[in-house]
Amino acid sequence: MPGVGDGRPAIADIHGRCDALLACGWRRVEIAAQVTERGESLPIHAYFNSTSVDRVLIGGIHGREPAGAIALSRYAGRLASLGGAPHILLLPLLNPWGYSRHLRYGPSGQSVSDSDHLLGRAPAPACPEAAAITAFVLDAVRINPGAAVLDLHEDPVYEAPEYHLEGQGSYLYVSGEGGLDHPVARRVYRCLEASPLPLIKEGLTRFGEQLVDGVIVDTEDGSIDELLAKKRACCPVITTELVLHSEATPPLSERVSTYLHVLDAFFGP
Ligand SMILES: [Zn+2]
Repeated sequence: MPGVGDGRPAIADIHGRCDALLACGWRRVEIAAQVTERGESLPIHAYFNSTSVDRVLIGGIHGREPAGAIALSRYAGRLASLGGAPHILLLPLLNPWGYSRHLRYGPSGQSVSDSDHLLGRAPAPACPEAAAITAFVLDAVRINPGAAVLDLHEDPVYEAPEYHLEGQGSYLYVSGEGGLDHPVARRVYRCLEASPLPLIKEGLTRFGEQLVDGVIVDTEDGSIDELLAKKRACCPVITTELVLHSEATPPLSERVSTYLHVLDAFFGP
């Protein structure tokens, strides 16, 4: 794996920590694989402790946003200690190819979990991973109505030098009927608000979305989060963003630590 200058662990470390769940009765499925230039296969794994789930954890969709995948893998021990309740689907690293290369998208240059083909906006899946990942969450596992979703992203604003967002910190997307007032969303909101990477309350994202009190509500971005909100009635669907002014600003350790606290908030007191 080529080195990335932010200190992120190898893919094997992410998977190894999650594999510890298998000894606690969790199952692992390979949803798809990404093939490297050298013919190496990088599996995209799903872990779950029931085939009917009420919580969904997602990380590693975009390869320049490693903190979520790392935090989820480090949280696996805590998930094991929850003892089978609640019923959880964990998708820790959906784009290992991008993670290892520090690239946003997968090998086909498309978002690995793009869902526009199932939201009536595209005739076909954007890439093979998008076909497999969306089919998996809709067909292979039952995600119950009202399931809470947490999708951990980061926003590498340094990709767009002409763009400027005032402030250091975080913001979030919340979807689902009444999602913003849901206790799970309130806990995650308060956790980020009080974190060392606090919510940026006002401004415009580089995708042109207006932040209102640090939140964008019910966005239509073709993401797996929109898919889960609309096709599985998940609520709240929470997508968190940590703003990156360079690949190590703020430092990766601080971002992972923040996301470990967000995971605690997601699961509650
Ligand atoms: Zn992202």
